[in-house]
Amino acid sequence: MDFNSHADRVVAAAVGLVNALTPGERRGRPYRPPEDPDERADAARAVWGGASDHSVFTEAELDELGAVALRLREVFEAVAAGDIDGAAALVNRMLDDTAARPRLARHDGEPWHLHFHGVGGGVTSDWGGPCATGLAVVLGGELYDRLGVCTAPACDRVYVDASRNGTRRYCSTACQNRVKTAAFRARAHS
Ligand SMILES: [Zn+2]
Repeated sequence: MDFNSHADRVVAAAVGLVNALTPGERRGRPYRPPEDPDERADAARAVWGGASDHSVFTEAELDELGAVALRLREVFEAVAAGDIDGAAALVNRMLDDTAARPRLARHDGEPWHLHFHGVGGGVTSDWGGPCATGLAVVLGGELYDRLGVCTAPACDRVYVDASRNGTRRYCSTACQNRVKTAAFRARAHS
């Protein structure tokens, strides 16, 4: 995308969090987040792309993280439904609730970059603040309608469309291929 690379990463993490921690359907099958707390924590940590994050979560914190993921999902669904005003209102509410504020940080050999943690130090502010800010950057920019929900059958995983012309419709190439194969079969039978 055209945002600075850290914002890109935060938006990707929001996508990952929704896809890992909200139930629904994934690539043609029902999806439930891992029941096992350790697996759920691993899935949550993995959304940062293997960054050096050793955070340990209590079960209550994992539930909180699941609630953050559900609120983020609502934003993707609103944009996918064309309700940009609704999406903006949802993001603003998350920014209010987390009191996310910018702060320059430098760690792990990275250059200075903006963090958007909320106030309070809990899971909701530490994860919800940055993710809401990432989505706010998207919604406040030219590519505001680039948040989507997969349109393949039996899939509701979300994505951010980073393609040049904004034509992405699916969460993954797996779903894209499922749709292509189904269309091919339909043609072959007609
Ligand atoms: Zn999909």
